[in-house]
Amino acid sequence: MPETKKENFEQIKKKLKIVDNKEVKIVGVTKNRTYEEVEGILEKGLTDLGENRVQELMSKAEMFTRSVNWHFIGHLQRNKVKYVVRIPQLAMIHSVDSLRLAKKVSQEARRVGRRIPVLLQVNIAREEQKYGFSKQELLKSLDELDELENIEVKGLMAMAPFVCDPEETRIYFADLRKLSENVKEREWNRIEMKELSMGMSQDYLVAIEEGATIIRLGRVLFSEEGGIC
Ligand SMILES: *Cc1c(COP(=O)(O)O)cnc(C)c1O
Repeated sequence: MPETKKENFEQIKKKLKIVDNKEVKIVGVTKNRTYEEVEGILEKGLTDLGENRVQELMSKAEMFTRSVNWHFIGHLQRNKVKYVVRIPQLAMIHSVDSLRLAKKVSQEARRVGRRIPVLLQVNIAREEQKYGFSKQELLKSLDELDELENIEVKGLMAMAPFVCDPEETRIYFADLRKLSENVKEREWNRIEMKELSMGMSQDYLVAIEEGATIIRLGRVLFSEEGGIC
C-alpha cells in the first residue's frame, strides 16, 4: 500500500476510535452507495468491501477493477450460490447460515475448483427475523461441516439486536466469542475459529472490546451518524 493511503486509512481508524494495537479488519459495506462514494473509500486505503445482495456484488465486483477483497454478508439463497463462487475477487462469505447452504457452497465451489473461506452465521439473540444457526444447531452440524472439502470455515459471524444503547449488545458479542472458544476446544480437520465478524456502525466499539477480528461498517465509514436512535 502506498504511504499516503496508509496514512489515510490510519486516520479513518483514529476517527473511528479504533485502538491501534488491535488487529481488526474493516469491511466497508457498500450497499446503496454510489460509484464515487466507493471509489472515495478505496482511495483512503480500504481493501475489503462487503455487499449483502448477490446482484449488487456481481456488478460492483466488475465495476471496481482495482484489487478489492469482496465479502458477501447477506442472506444467500442456494440457487444463487453458483454466481457468488464464480466472482474472482470473492474473499469470504460471512453468512453461511445453515448446513444445507454450506453443502451447496462446497458443491458449487468444487465445480469451479475453489475452496471458499466462509464464516458461520449465528442467530445469537434468537431473533425471529434474523437468519443464522442456533447455538445447538451449530454444535450439531460441526462434524458434517468439517467434512466439506471446498469450504474453509474460518470462524463465526453475528449481528446483534438493534438497540439504542450499544452497551446492551455486549452480552451477545461475548456469547459469540464463548461459542467460538467452545468450538476451538475440539480438534478439527478443516474448521478453524480465527475470525469473529461482529460489529456494525452503532456497536463496533463494543464488538472490538469483546474480541471482533472483522467489523462490517457502512454508515460511519461514509460519514453518516452511526447511531440508530
Ligand atoms: C448493512 C450491513 C452492515 C453495515 O451496517 P451499518 O449500520 O451501515 O454499519 C453490516 N452487516 C450487514 C450484514 C449489513 O447488512
